[in-house]
Amino acid sequence: MNEPNRGRARAERPRRFFVETWGCQMNELDSQRLSGRLMEEGMLPTREPSEADLILLNSCSVREKAEQKVYSRLGVYRQLKDENPGLLIGLCGCVAQEAGERALKRVPDLDFVLGPARVGEILDVLAERRRGKRPVATGFPETLDHDFDSISRDGSYKGMVTIVEGCNKNCTFCIVPLTRGPERSRTLGEIVAEVRHLVEYGFREIELLGQTVNHWREPGGGEDGPDFADLLDAVARVPGVERLRFVTSYPRDFTPRMVEQFARHDNISPYLHLPVQSGSNPVLQRMGRGYSIESYYELVADLRRARPDIALSTDLIIGFPGETDEDFEQTLRLVTEIEFGSLFAFKYSPRPGTAAPRLGEAVNQAIADERLQRIFAAQEPIQRRLNRRLVGTEVEVLVTGWGKRPGTQTGRTPCHRLVHFPLEGSHPTPNGDIATVKIEEALAHSLIGRRNGEIGATRPTDVPSQLVVLRDAPTDAAS
Ligand code: SF4
Repeated sequence: MNEPNRGRARAERPRRFFVETWGCQMNELDSQRLSGRLMEEGMLPTREPSEADLILLNSCSVREKAEQKVYSRLGVYRQLKDENPGLLIGLCGCVAQEAGERALKRVPDLDFVLGPARVGEILDVLAERRRGKRPVATGFPETLDHDFDSISRDGSYKGMVTIVEGCNKNCTFCIVPLTRGPERSRTLGEIVAEVRHLVEYGFREIELLGQTVNHWREPGGGEDGPDFADLLDAVARVPGVERLRFVTSYPRDFTPRMVEQFARHDNISPYLHLPVQSGSNPVLQRMGRGYSIESYYELVADLRRARPDIALSTDLIIGFPGETDEDFEQTLRLVTEIEFGSLFAFKYSPRPGTAAPRLGEAVNQAIADERLQRIFAAQEPIQRRLNRRLVGTEVEVLVTGWGKRPGTQTGRTPCHRLVHFPLEGSHPTPNGDIATVKIEEALAHSLIGRRNGEIGATRPTDVPSQLVVLRDAPTDAAS
């Protein structure tokens, strides 16, 4: 096709957008909100950046590497403007909030910058751009704007619901308070209404989101007002919620009433991501975490008493400034003693505007690398052993998609383990259905099984997926 025809073809078809998402579940949900707004305006999603009239890069800044990747992706996308001069490129997410104007200077072809608390303003920002400006919409409104009718839900099994955004904790390594702003909660009524809406729409699994999700409190409710234990109780009682999860929990904010909810409601998944970050008290203190390793062990024991089948996962930062061999050995001991079902360990990465680099001597990178490998080496046999316990059992698997190997599908057990199973005949089990799978083999990171009998239950609807989600870390890596 020659150039004029190509231009005419673009002008004649509906405008298309492409969203690339990095980072945590909050960013995933923000991308779904951006998509919803754009689709209300008549734009259509595309999976092909070269077909797009608008590219949104929803970025993550939790680690330095993630941020570097954002700028290199922008470098790739700006080349598409040679072919399509009308293409608009917007930087969204945490790098957008942190960099603001600087991003416009660094990337001359960037059209606008949109912080995570301002995603609801995407149409206004596009209008401003059409008027010739290069807008920067960052900062934090006092209340959370979550028009849940406008969200284009990605995937067909998990409905994510933001309940609290931002963070007031100021852990010394973390950039999130700068990029997500001060903590703001939504009301219990609003949250329950959104959960009901999702269940009516066909979602079976609800995931409550917040940087410190268990620090949710009813806005204006005061000390005696509803807290996260009350919210969990209310959401678990919504008819049709089959699996309820929440991320990311802050260990110090867990109360006995929250632990109790695991025992009270079977539909609260026996899975909890509980970032500990280090096994050493001096390191925890320099991190500003506000809890001791002894209290973390006690909390784990309480959770296991309340729900013996609970699977725990955690985040670890290896090589925090001043981390000694002894500090690291304590982290390693924690890993072997607690036996996490999974863990996400990362080398410490200094972030701008944080206190940590001043709090201890930088750990030599080769030493940090070696410590990280020792953590993975210690964790792998634990995961294999825990997974092996499921061999020969039947588990209820929430079907989540196709497997990497042709003819296979994947799903998640109630405790969030990944299961691969072959297609039965020529009929796939629809995403979002619950299938009974007999586990035949255990690997370190997943289970392999065979579907047994009829599908447990089916859903009324299926939701097409249109977003590309590129994840640097499988969890928020905060809290
Ligand atoms: S690590 Fe979590 S709790 Fe700490 S400042 Fe970051 S988001 Fe807040």
